[in-house]
Order: sequence, then structure tokens, then C-alpha cells
Amino acid sequence: MRFLSEAWMYARFLRGLPRFLHDTITPEHARNALRRRLADREATLVHVAERGFFGAPRSPYRELFRLAGCGFSDFRRSVKDHGVEATLRALRGAGVYFSFEEFKGRTPVVRDGRELSVTPSDFDNPWLSHYYRAISSGTTGLGTRVSTDLDRLAIEAEHRLLLFDAHGVLDAPFAIWRPPLPSGSGINTVLRGARAAHPPEKWFTPLVPGGFGPPLKHRLATQAIVGLGRAMGARLPWPEPVPLDEAVRIARWMAEARDVHGTALLNTTVSSGLRVGLAARDAGLDLTGTVLMVAGEPVSPAKVHGIRASGAALMTDYGAAEAGRFAVACAKARDETDVHLLVDAYAFITWPRQVSDAGPTVDSFHVTHLHPSASKLLLNVELDDYGLLEERSCGCPLDTHGLRVHLRQIRSFAKLTGEGVTLVGCEMVHILEEVLPARFGGSSLDYQLVEEEDEAGLTRLTLLVSPSVPIADEREVIEAIHAALARESLAADMARAFWAQAGTLRVRREAPRVGSGGKQMPLRLMQHHHGADTK
Ligand SMILES: [Zn+2]
Repeated sequence: MRFLSEAWMYARFLRGLPRFLHDTITPEHARNALRRRLADREATLVHVAERGFFGAPRSPYRELFRLAGCGFSDFRRSVKDHGVEATLRALRGAGVYFSFEEFKGRTPVVRDGRELSVTPSDFDNPWLSHYYRAISSGTTGLGTRVSTDLDRLAIEAEHRLLLFDAHGVLDAPFAIWRPPLPSGSGINTVLRGARAAHPPEKWFTPLVPGGFGPPLKHRLATQAIVGLGRAMGARLPWPEPVPLDEAVRIARWMAEARDVHGTALLNTTVSSGLRVGLAARDAGLDLTGTVLMVAGEPVSPAKVHGIRASGAALMTDYGAAEAGRFAVACAKARDETDVHLLVDAYAFITWPRQVSDAGPTVDSFHVTHLHPSASKLLLNVELDDYGLLEERSCGCPLDTHGLRVHLRQIRSFAKLTGEGVTLVGCEMVHILEEVLPARFGGSSLDYQLVEEEDEAGLTRLTLLVSPSVPIADEREVIEAIHAALARESLAADMARAFWAQAGTLRVRREAPRVGSGGKQMPLRLMQHHHGADTK
């Protein structure tokens, strides 16, 4: 039955695809659409709230609005009188929000001393028309199922077009190095490009036969989407395997495309972008004139340095798999983390939160959707990210289109990122605290996973194991972690395939470190600083 319902879901998606690919857009179209959405911002939020929150029987927001004493007419009046962000801040203060843990279903939602019944699927947008589901491999937890709707891809295609235009790579030959389904990152990039009449010429995939085999239904889905697109005349590329240790092939493609066309563009993860930069350096290839568009992990100074050393320019965007692409790189950036918030589609506020019992307080981002094609309908949902949110006029083309809100120095307070594949703490904590002690001895206090960057800037996950635990062969520990990941879920198995290829995990015989508060955390995450320190 599940197979049938998935087949039906893909059938609906494919039915919408011809029109999506036929109605290609130009930069002028994208600018006009952006202007319209900016002008309609308040009306759109009121419309989404009326249909999606106040008028939807299963909406998890109804009870929150009731407890806050806010009816739909109050909401509408506040948006009209005070604007979108002021209304959202007032609602946040009145308890209309979900914390990151509540949204993920990890902690119960308690308001006014009473537990509300909320599950992650309650946030799903019931009005998607042509969508499919993939698992996230970019910036969310294991096995999160994400719906991608063609209407959402159409808006994202407009944003991409404006980004490419602002950075002068609108006509650049274009390749991606991203996995196929069940990860959505590859196919979505292909489809956004096709919508803008600029599909990638090459789709390199780092997942190679033997490492990770996508289930048959996902292989069929990739073939159906690419095949249908090609039958309609869209130049969609077939995925072509290039393992992580052959990054020089990608670097060569970039250099050759640049020699012919003056420039070239590659879309990949931050770590893979670094691999291309390092491979170019080792092969003596100069990538000056090319652009790497990277996303999926924080851009650290070491990674930026490693990529720029190849001569390639760097461009980033920012998003979360279940919530959309929020922001695109400024073309007159203050630092390499500077992005324009896409305020036509999202509203952000920040709110102080304490990271853990004794941890620091950060200004976490809360996101609200202003477009009804989002996979989930979110209002004041906390992301596990924090950073600087500032309004200023930078003078780049994105600014002149009316995008005045910048985000910088975005960091996560809860997650562990390596090779663009995120493991949210609790799955890994389970492995550290139960799987490894059961297999190799010792207790949960004898194991700790530390995120570090090696000399080249590549993210490494170093497992500290107390010297008192008798382990003959350290490779067995890594194999045990890989095996446990493969059992967890399809997404964890994909993470495993990346980590195994990249050699991300390593073991060091050293006592786990205890924090300044006397606590020993199972995971120690790198602080991703970008210049100035934040609070
Ligand atoms: Zn700008």
C-alpha cells in the first residue's frame, strides 16, 4: 500500500512537471515576481494564517492562538497596523511559537501547565498540489521526510536566477556534485535550473555504486523525472558517478569550461567544494574565473581559505531542508557568511534562548512562511540556528530589488555537520552511550565524539576513547559506528556512505574532555566562528 501511495505521489509530481518545465522564466520575470510578493507580504501572511492556522482543524497553532487570546480578526488587524515582524514578535512574547525541540517532536509542548498533543506531521502543509517526498541530507535530522512541491521549486528558481544574475554567472556553464534521490538536493537543483532555462550541463554524483545503493523506487523516480524532462526538450543531465577522492575530475571540468566560456559554476556542499579546491591545488590547476556555490554546512575560515586558494570565487545560500531556502549570498558581502534574507517568502525574528542548562544564551532564528507552497506551514518556529540579523543597504543588485535584511555568522547550536550530512545529536548519542560500550566495554563516559577541522580544513569527527578500554584494532570501532548508522535509517545510511568514502571518522586514544562546568558531553561540536565573536 505504501508503495502504491508513493507511486501515486510521484505520478502527481510528474503530471505537473511538463508545465513547470515549459513555463521557463527570465530575470525580468523573477524581478517582477519578487516585487509582487514583497508588495503582497502582509496579505499573504493573513491568507496563510486564515487557511492554514485558524481555519485548519488539525493545525497545532489553534490552541496556541486561543491561549494567547488572539483571534483571526485580532491577527489581521495587528498585521495591518503594526506589520509582519512586529506581530510575530508580539505573538512570540504571548507564547505563539514552537521551539526547535518541540517542532522536531523531541520534547512535549507544554503551555499554561498543560501538555498539548503535537506531532511533527501536524505541521505538514495539506495544500501541496504537485509534490514528492525525499529525505533530508542537508541541514536537518536523520530521516526527516521533506515534501518538495513544484510551486515551491518555481519560487526558488526565481530566487536562484536573481542570485546568479547578481553574481554575474547567469550564463556560466554549470555543474552540480550532489547525490540523487532519496536526497532531494541534486534533483531540486537540476529542476530549479531547468525552470530558469539554465539546467546544469553535468550532474556529478558523489555516491558511487558499491558505496550506497538508492532503493529501486528512488532510482526509478530519478529516471522518470530526468527522462520526462528530456523528452520535453529540457536539457536535463543524467547523474554521473564521481567519488569524493576523484575531485580532480570536477576541478578539470571547471578549468576546461572556464577556458571555453570565460567562467564556470559548480554547486556542491562546502566540504566537497573544499575537496575540489584542494584537488585543483595538488594538480596545479588554476580555477580563477570560476565560482563555487556551496551550501549545507557552515563555511569556516579554513574551508573558505582552502577553496579560495584554488582561485575560485565562493558563493553560498542558506536554508533548511524541511523549511526551504531562506537566503542568498550578497554580491557586496561584508564577510563570506553575508546573505540576503528572502523576505518575500520568509519572515525571521530572533529571540533569546539558553542553549543548555548552564550554556550560553543565543539569539535563535524563528521562521515564518509567507508562501503557501512550503512543505510545512510554519509560524515562529525556532530553527537550531542563531546569528546576526541586520537591516542595511549594501548596494548590490539584490538590495536594489528590495531585499534589505541580511543574515551573517549563522551557526547551529545543536547539530553535528560533516560532509554536508547532518546528524542530530540524539542518534549519535545513542551509539556513543549504548552501542559502543556494549560492544567494546567501558561506559558511556569512555566515549566522546569531537568535531574538528584537519590541517586542510576538512571536517573530521574524532572519537575519543579512554585508553582504559581494551581495543585491539581501532578500525573495528569505526566499522561498528558505520554498521550502527546503516541500521538507523536510510538517511543515516547515506551519511555513513559519505563518511566512509571521505574517511571522516577517526579514533584517538585519549580521555574524553570535561567541560568547564564539570560536565562531560557525549558530543563536542566545533564553534564555527566567522570573524567577530557573537554573544
Ligand atoms: Zn547585497
